Amino acid sequence: MSVKVMRKLGVGLTCLSLTCLAGAALPQAATAPAGTDMLGFTSGGATQEHDLERRFDTELSAPEMREWLRRLSAGPNQVGSPHDKANAEFLLAQFKKWGWDARIETFDVLYPTPKQELVEMVAPTTFKAALHEPPIKGDSTSALGGALPPYNAYGADGDVTAPLVYVNYGMPDDYKVLARYGVSVKGKIVIVRYGQGWRGLKPQLAYEHGAVGCLIYSDPRDDGYFNGDAYPKGGWRPPEGVQRGSVMNMEWYPGDPTTPGYGSVPGAKHLAIKDAKTILKIPVLPISYADATPLLQALGGPVAPVSWRGALPLTYHIGAGPAQVHLLVKSDWSLKPLYDVIAVLKGSTEGSQWIVRGNHHDGWVFGAWDPLAGTIALMGEAKALGALHRQGWRPKRTIVYASWDGEEPALLGSTEWVETHAKDLQQKAVLYVNSDTNARGFLSIDGSHSLQHMANQVAAGVTDPETSVSVLQRERAFLEVRGAQPNAAPMAREIARLAATGGDVPLGPLGSGSDYSSFLDHLGIASLNVEFGGEDDEAGIYHSRYDSFDHYIRFGDPTFEYEVALAKVAGHIVLRTADAQVLPMRFTDFSATLDRYVKELHQELAEESKATQQQHKLLDANAYQLAADPTRPVAPPERLSDVPNIDLGPLDQAASRLRQSAAAYETAYEARASAGLAIPASQLREINTLMTTMERRLLDEAGLPGRAWYKNMMQAPGELTGYAPKTIPAVREALETRNWSRAEEYIGVTAKVLDGYRAQLDRLTSLLGTH
Ligand SMILES: [Zn+2]
Repeated sequence: MSVKVMRKLGVGLTCLSLTCLAGAALPQAATAPAGTDMLGFTSGGATQEHDLERRFDTELSAPEMREWLRRLSAGPNQVGSPHDKANAEFLLAQFKKWGWDARIETFDVLYPTPKQELVEMVAPTTFKAALHEPPIKGDSTSALGGALPPYNAYGADGDVTAPLVYVNYGMPDDYKVLARYGVSVKGKIVIVRYGQGWRGLKPQLAYEHGAVGCLIYSDPRDDGYFNGDAYPKGGWRPPEGVQRGSVMNMEWYPGDPTTPGYGSVPGAKHLAIKDAKTILKIPVLPISYADATPLLQALGGPVAPVSWRGALPLTYHIGAGPAQVHLLVKSDWSLKPLYDVIAVLKGSTEGSQWIVRGNHHDGWVFGAWDPLAGTIALMGEAKALGALHRQGWRPKRTIVYASWDGEEPALLGSTEWVETHAKDLQQKAVLYVNSDTNARGFLSIDGSHSLQHMANQVAAGVTDPETSVSVLQRERAFLEVRGAQPNAAPMAREIARLAATGGDVPLGPLGSGSDYSSFLDHLGIASLNVEFGGEDDEAGIYHSRYDSFDHYIRFGDPTFEYEVALAKVAGHIVLRTADAQVLPMRFTDFSATLDRYVKELHQELAEESKATQQQHKLLDANAYQLAADPTRPVAPPERLSDVPNIDLGPLDQAASRLRQSAAAYETAYEARASAGLAIPASQLREINTLMTTMERRLLDEAGLPGRAWYKNMMQAPGELTGYAPKTIPAVREALETRNWSRAEEYIGVTAKVLDGYRAQLDRLTSLLGTH
């Protein structure tokens, strides 16, 4: 291993990039010879497919992608901006030029934009926040007009003045700590820092605890000078940089808040704003650390606990007050148009099976990183597929490429499109492949576990630009080193152990935060999210005006080779799925992953029980009080409820039955494969139709408790984490919130869903085994 590789691994291990923050487990496989072993293909078919992929690769061009990025990021790209619309029209023209049947689909969505915003301290001293990101030398777009000021979309209008309270990251545990200090946020304005969970939960939890307003700031500990030099010297967040972002309650449902469950097509009926559950009830604004510093400095009350302190040069206090803040937000609540670009290459023999590939094109401002670095890879793929098509290649299945609008505010473009076309998608969609931002570093593929082997095989066949090993081999090394760190999380250690076996590396589950959500969580369409990253400084300019072309070519990917690599990985996944004889799924991978998730539930429950007993013992012995400093009183924690005997047996048994069924399918498939996959056409069609809807069997029509839009019982965004995924979510979240009766109920519900999945798998196996 070269010195260069070691250094880069070091960067990756400590980075705060979004890839790392997502905590994703990533895929790769061992050796993947460009041989004839390709899931879903005969050996002759595999040879042809490899040849096709080589031709696809020669059509990809890094300089061309660089030029596209420069053009697409030359103006502000928020929903409704002229430049975002011009980009949609440019993309449409390109798709058409490349031979695709393309169109723009328009939706009218509720998207509030700021009209008036003010943050000022009125006591004990006065200070007015700038709420402005000034131009930066060497960043040519940072002086351009046409951008919206920093704001949080879907916060309420309001005009409030109240004492300030600091609540760390503003997540559920922070409020428990706050209670021990005897501080309440009722009637107050809270100030919290970005990080540790979905930003929309911060003002929502503040509201639920009685706060009347919320400020969210970026602490340099999390994405500023603590991590590296600030922009423009380095890539990290400068003092005036602000993270914009949505604060809609997307853990209930994403998309237009006034058209839940159906498409916002022009003329659709919209709910009144007051009836839209996902819109916040209090005003909220994001601020820079330059604006946050005087406010935090003016706080009194107890000194904040160690884990609450950031990297600003001040002593962090909790409050409340004496700082008094006046917060004013007013938005324009009109409907705005969305422009989704949809392009189709029709399938030759299996045209009613669709492979969908998407990336959004709207940004908070210019969006060079997020999302345009992903968009240019998608464009490269579309151009290359168009070239193959011109040369006479026809995909078996229909390929649909989508460039979504309005992802940033609320996954608007993808959600409204999916809700509008739900019926077709339920019948026809085989796979959705998503990407978003992308930069130098390590591959990460997350998503549906039955696609693990195919994803591993694809990753084994793509070369890493920096090291010349496969992107899979590099990822494997990264995971093994990460898991060997002394402070590695249990999941990271487990993934490292699996990576070290040399077999496939498991795909991580998907939470939310990008356009796969409505495909996977709402309709049960098998999905993958693909991204390179971990050696970049994206966190420092994330959702700010400095997410620009000039920042990207210095700190994202100067050579654009990782955009080419993304196009190869995503493009090969699309090609293989579009052309496979038998769809490339492997259910033993699904089953093994399920076993791991069930085992985690057992462990979580045992740990919870142990921790509860320990806490009770300490409380009974009055230990918290005796261990506290009487001059700085901190109350003992609230007594935890007893952990009853929860029976995970039904899940264990469903997982065990599924293990047998998956093994039986594997045996039947292997037998067919060694006989050259010679299956009569009508039978093959039936097999592929059943495989297309396998992931749908993971849905429960009643949905997750309290959020029926989310129907996938295997993976979902956490209700109290937002972005981060929860597996077997209904059960896991009930255990985590100590809702014991709900846990028992959903153990049964989930086991039943898994039995339905198994029943369809058994039908598939018997079809495959019939000669
Ligand atoms: Zn994005």
